[in-house]
Amino acid sequence: MERHILSKSTFIRGNQCLKSLYLNKKRPFLRDKLSPEQLAKFKRGSRLGLLAQQLFPGGIDLTPRSPSQYQKRVLETTEIIRQGKYDTLNEAVFQFDQLLIMLDILNRKDDEWFGYEVKSSLKISDTYLLDAAFQYYVITNSGLKLKDMFLVYVNKDYSFEEELRLDDIFIFESVLEKVLELQDYVKEKVIEEKATLHLNSSPQIDVGEHCLHPYPCDFIGHCWKNVSDKSLIESYNPSSNEEFYEFLDKIEQMDA
Ligand code: SF4
Repeated sequence: MERHILSKSTFIRGNQCLKSLYLNKKRPFLRDKLSPEQLAKFKRGSRLGLLAQQLFPGGIDLTPRSPSQYQKRVLETTEIIRQGKYDTLNEAVFQFDQLLIMLDILNRKDDEWFGYEVKSSLKISDTYLLDAAFQYYVITNSGLKLKDMFLVYVNKDYSFEEELRLDDIFIFESVLEKVLELQDYVKEKVIEEKATLHLNSSPQIDVGEHCLHPYPCDFIGHCWKNVSDKSLIESYNPSSNEEFYEFLDKIEQMDA
């Protein structure tokens, strides 16, 4: 099986800025260095996905141990679904048209498959919807019909008691309707992003607000170095996610 060109994270990167997509692939050494605090933040929240998986016991974990295993895992995912021995696949890997995704939880109920993507967040954003739409696009075009697609996020009204109540921590929201509306957009964007990756030099894209939203770009140091007015990035104040991290800390303390 040929290697993939785009993953979910690179697709979302390209949706924010095609130049970022290009540089990430062709000039990764230009990326800004992450501080230890930023790295720690990225790692937080992965525990949440594991907690959500506990709501679907008896599943098989297909997490690739390294990037070299991605295509092997795609074949294993297909085979496990074909055999029908498991109702739940954690981190099932799908590939279509050189697009690769890993889904947090794939669950079968009454012979229908349901997709669940867990988000370390207290609410759904447009980026999460696009993320789910890309996953749906790859999974269904690779041949598996999904009855529904859910985003799973943290219930901000959860009240902490002596024991963790997993059933109450998460909100499961069906996003199938919105995901279906986004399928044509995903298809067009994939064509544009693939074409960008075949360019001989990075696309000419000026700096601007898009350098900070939905995520602060990690090529800011490179792209902004000759920009005299840096007031936009200097005044950038990301909306605080402290409420969410406090919540996550409590969950992790109780689940330790
Ligand atoms: S810093 Fe801005 S212009 Fe440069 S790659 Fe990132 S988003 Fe694009």
